[in-house]
Amino acid sequence: MKKSLICLLVCVLVCALLIGCETQSTREAVSKTVVDPTCLTEGYTETVYSDGYVKRDSFTPKTDHEFVQFSDGTQENVLRSVCRYCGMEKTEYIEREISTEVTIDPTRPRPSFAGLDKMICAMILENTTEDAVRAIRSAEANGAYGFMVYVSCLQKEDRTLEALQKIMYCTDLPVLAIAYNVSMFGPQNLTFDDMADLLRLSVEAGAAAVDLQAFLWSYDTRASLTQYRAYWEAKGFDMSFVSANPAEICADPAVLEKQRAFTDEIHAMGAEVLLSVHASVQMSAGQIVAMAKFMEAQGIDIAKIVVSGSSKDTVMEHLEACKILSEQLQCKFSVHGQSTLSRLMCPMFGSYIAFCVDEYTQVQTNIQIDLDTMTALFEGGELKYDLETLVGLFASPEMTGAR
Ligand SMILES: [Zn+2]
Repeated sequence: MKKSLICLLVCVLVCALLIGCETQSTREAVSKTVVDPTCLTEGYTETVYSDGYVKRDSFTPKTDHEFVQFSDGTQENVLRSVCRYCGMEKTEYIEREISTEVTIDPTRPRPSFAGLDKMICAMILENTTEDAVRAIRSAEANGAYGFMVYVSCLQKEDRTLEALQKIMYCTDLPVLAIAYNVSMFGPQNLTFDDMADLLRLSVEAGAAAVDLQAFLWSYDTRASLTQYRAYWEAKGFDMSFVSANPAEICADPAVLEKQRAFTDEIHAMGAEVLLSVHASVQMSAGQIVAMAKFMEAQGIDIAKIVVSGSSKDTVMEHLEACKILSEQLQCKFSVHGQSTLSRLMCPMFGSYIAFCVDEYTQVQTNIQIDLDTMTALFEGGELKYDLETLVGLFASPEMTGAR
């Protein structure tokens, strides 16, 4: 009994083996692929047989992420990479060593802020001289043509001739000094004379230009506009901008005389004057043009007007004003509204200054366009069309569909 049972088992086993060998002998490997490991999966060797059977073996362990660098073109000091397998992103910050060593060379010719075709200008709002120097050099490396330095943002101990000289001589590009009562570093409480003194000191230190606010030495600009409208109209000025009731612009002849003396003084020192108005109202193209001409008559080098409004209709007014001023104004002008569209487009229509921010910080107002965008716009080939070229392009038969 026992023996026969064992015999039967042996027979079954032998048969099974024979059948198995028969099967193996008909299966042939048709392909063998070595699959490399990634951060997501192990590596293996895959064999495909003639009957469709797939076998994976010779496993290798998962690897680290494989990062490939990419750039979104915004910040040069940031290195971004993404893993080609799992998509994991990595951001590294490159510490750029920016020297704050400055050689002051009083024999250097003073650069001109108003003398270019276009001024891609980086706004510098820093609390210390060292930080201002670093910010200027960083923006210069990123393509700025010049700088607007808020000298009134510097801490009090850095509002000295020596400290200001470091700022003015840390670059050979032109620096325009601004003394506003801006409060990002605490209240400034500068009097009109304080502002004028700080601007004078900046020019003495080597600034290329100063920002003269058109309300300097005026305590009620709006009242002066209505009071002296007829006075200036009698002298042939278009005073239509008075109807818009703009802020910051004075029409009092006595005040304007004082401003004129200051402008003459800055010119005598070898620097230039930008006269600025932040109108805080919407203005039509005609009103903007009239105001710019009134400002030009003050003997300044650049008339800067910032108006309100961000709708497309207001932007059209700003662009129209820029177009007219390009033809009719002798001095440079900078006109834009409080919108990205206006800030971007007005320089394309002749507005001299394109205000930019190199690196957005807590203090830097993010209402300005970033420097990379602005330089790309003005230095990139496809955007180099001037107005005439564009108008010609859109008026051409193939664009208008005319026969
Ligand atoms: Zn990965």
